[in-house]
Amino acid sequence: MKAYDLIVIGGGLVGGAIAWGAARQGASVALLDEGDVAYRAARGNFGLVWVQSKGAGMPPYAHWSRRSSEVWPQLAAALLQATELDVALRQPGGLHFCLNDAELEARAEMIQRMHNESGGSGTRMVGRAEMKAMVPAIGDGVVGASYCPIDGHANPLKLLRALHAALLKLGGAYLPGRTVDAIAGGEGGGFTLQAGAERFACAKLVIAAGLGSRKLAPMVGLDMPVTPLRGQIIVTERMRPFLDYATHVVRQTDEGSVLLGDSQEDVGFDNGTTVPVMQDIAARNLVMFPGLKDANIVRVWGALRVMTPDGYPIYEQSRTHPGAFAATCHSGVTLAGAHALELAPAILAGALPSGFDVFSSRRFHVQAA
Ligand SMILES: Cc1cc2nc3c(=O)[nH]c(=O)nc-3n(C[C@H](O)[C@H](O)[C@H](O)COP(=O)(O)OP(=O)(O)OC[C@H]3O[C@@H](n4cnc5c(N)ncnc54)[C@H](O)[C@@H]3O)c2cc1C
Repeated sequence: MKAYDLIVIGGGLVGGAIAWGAARQGASVALLDEGDVAYRAARGNFGLVWVQSKGAGMPPYAHWSRRSSEVWPQLAAALLQATELDVALRQPGGLHFCLNDAELEARAEMIQRMHNESGGSGTRMVGRAEMKAMVPAIGDGVVGASYCPIDGHANPLKLLRALHAALLKLGGAYLPGRTVDAIAGGEGGGFTLQAGAERFACAKLVIAAGLGSRKLAPMVGLDMPVTPLRGQIIVTERMRPFLDYATHVVRQTDEGSVLLGDSQEDVGFDNGTTVPVMQDIAARNLVMFPGLKDANIVRVWGALRVMTPDGYPIYEQSRTHPGAFAATCHSGVTLAGAHALELAPAILAGALPSGFDVFSSRRFHVQAA
């Protein structure tokens, strides 16, 4: 039975970032992943490093998202140095477009409320003229936007690949095709994991298995009541650069293709695509960028977000099994910087960062209590 300082269950963006971040601290780390049969948000997402609307109603989440955006350049640089993989991070700021006055007013109210709750991320409303100057290709149907200077985007597939590669470079083990079926507290502390016929031992454990976390968490006294929320994404052929900014529904990659998306559908574990939702996505985006009308669509997909009941992350150390941690969120790209550079060292040191009590799943039990 192989033994490690830390085992992370789940090789998506959350688990990958924590595993690499811990290996950088000198720990022996194994990253166990179910493999290609699993639901994997990390392989189907939109690639935003998005801060402006994160943490409305929960200031610590707003601060954590901002912190992650701040350290993201360090993450990208470290991965480039370790693996020669450029994750295509760009942080020119992000725009949330509004298509009518009611949307604009609601957005302005939300940005003001967030400012009052958690201080500024520098987000401000921009009117039609300023927005047109920032994005000349914008359609006449867009009346204004909110703009956050610390929003950005990256290539999420390259990020996932780079995290795995960087872990391997540090001597860590990335072990796909290992579905963890059982976890037991070992003698004298630590844990034993069963994955098929194989067993693994570790001093510390992180459950970051996305939608698979729900089943694993109770084995070590944790609660991760996550559910799927589908998003569908359309990808066009490569186009001349027309949009540097990150936006909530359309993003032009460093390679020129355009991603359109942001549907939110409660359809259980169905990660397929549907024509009506694709039509809605395309129609809304044509109002924003009429120039897309002649673009060829080259790919579409559906993927499942990993949602907690209130949409905020869960970070928690087990009270009954100290050394076992839960980590899940629905913004694994945005939070990759903070997960790798701040959360992972804290977990290795045996405690979550201070102030993280608010992220405990105990918040879902208040009513019952
Ligand atoms: C359509 C869409 C758009 C999104 N857009 C953005 C965005 O723009 N910005 C952003 O920050 N985030 C975005 N996200 C969210 C982001 O993709 C996720 O937060 C991120 O992928 C992290 O997910 P994860 O690692 O928790 O889970 P996953 O990526 O789902 O990974 C979980 C992993 O756990 C493994 N696993 C499960 N059970 C077991 C088991 N028993 N044993 C071993 N391994 C197991 C699986 O193999 C899987 O690889 C989006 C998601 C979707 C679906």
